[in-house]
Amino acid sequence: MAKIITRFPPSPTGKFHIGSARTALFNYLFAKHNKGDFLLRFEDTDQERSTKESEEDIKNGMEWLGLKWDGPISHQLNNMEKHLSLALKLVNEGLAYEKEGAIWFKVPQNQRIEFTDLIRGKVVFESKEFSDFVIVRSNKIPIYYFSNAIDDAEDKITHVLRGEEHLSNTPKQIFILEALGYKKPEYGHMPLILNEDRTKLSKRSGSVSLADYKEKGYLPEAIINFLALLGWNPGNEREFFTLEDLIKEFKIERVQKSPAIFNIEKLNFINAHYLRGKTDKELSKEANVSEKMVEIFKERAKTLKELQELSQGIIELKDYDFRLLIFKKSDKKKTKIGLEKTLEILEKQKDWPKAETEFEQILKNIMEENGLSFGDVFWPVRVALSGLEKSPSPTELLWALSKEESLERLKEALKKLS
Ligand code: GLU
Repeated sequence: MAKIITRFPPSPTGKFHIGSARTALFNYLFAKHNKGDFLLRFEDTDQERSTKESEEDIKNGMEWLGLKWDGPISHQLNNMEKHLSLALKLVNEGLAYEKEGAIWFKVPQNQRIEFTDLIRGKVVFESKEFSDFVIVRSNKIPIYYFSNAIDDAEDKITHVLRGEEHLSNTPKQIFILEALGYKKPEYGHMPLILNEDRTKLSKRSGSVSLADYKEKGYLPEAIINFLALLGWNPGNEREFFTLEDLIKEFKIERVQKSPAIFNIEKLNFINAHYLRGKTDKELSKEANVSEKMVEIFKERAKTLKELQELSQGIIELKDYDFRLLIFKKSDKKKTKIGLEKTLEILEKQKDWPKAETEFEQILKNIMEENGLSFGDVFWPVRVALSGLEKSPSPTELLWALSKEESLERLKEALKKLS
């Protein structure tokens, strides 16, 4: 069998859309599963809307996701002369004609276009459903589906996997390829991606650009895993797949026809899984927070950004109301004693304890020696150190913060209570 070649041909007219990233991924997986090639082509013939920034954004996104393309990147614009000359050839052969400066393709009479879509099965179109269509605009720029079909044929693309929204162009492209004597590729039209309310995934419904997800602290391996499950399923209950796993497991037969629902909870769940799979050192580097902060917040954060925010929330103590220091079953007097005793004992620690359990012992001793309860010591110390109603435990905080910082915060709390 001939080598399989797929392609990802984005129009570089904006930020890399997360839905396009799925298209890229499925083409990549199909090619790599079959030991084939995966090409990247920028369809940049719309010179008004195409930008180099968009190309950069798409390239960066692909690299970030680990979707390596084979060979050099091609640009459709470079092939425009060729597309034009093929359109004129069709005119010369009587298969197309010029009208008002544009070139129109003459749809053949009584022809049936039939192909087996890799995802949707048999698809049939009758030529009478089509009227003649433009292939080159009056400004001499070929229509993108004309250029796209020719580039695919010239690049020897064997399989075209693209979104369902392109299905209506497919018969036109088959007419074109047949008229030009090219072999047609296999097609697979992937299901739409919808929001949970079944509206089209669009800017209005939240983030759609891949860069936004990166910015929000999602990991590339989580995005890959999540995107793979947007329309593909392994046929069992397995949820987690690395790119390597996917290359092994991806079968086009397991891509569904019905729309895929973009469920952000699912992405968060998958992201949290990959986050927890990283070492503290890796997370500390990637989120730019200390390893101690990673250790306390790792289980709570779903994204790198959340990890940063949680850690920032502790590093920068915000002002809080003194009443927060007093546990509901305690009172101001006992709270003050609890804090004073803690301050006194901690000030005496020459070597700041290395283990959280040591702090736990210290606080427990303070409770016992002074006849105080948990709420008179652990609660106010925790609030004093975090300024928050909910936070990691006081012992975790003492362990993560320096001696100087801890004492400072305890003094600050006592000031609030005086
Ligand atoms: N440039 C087209 C797009 O961005 C490609 C369509 C196709 O995959 O054939 O949607």
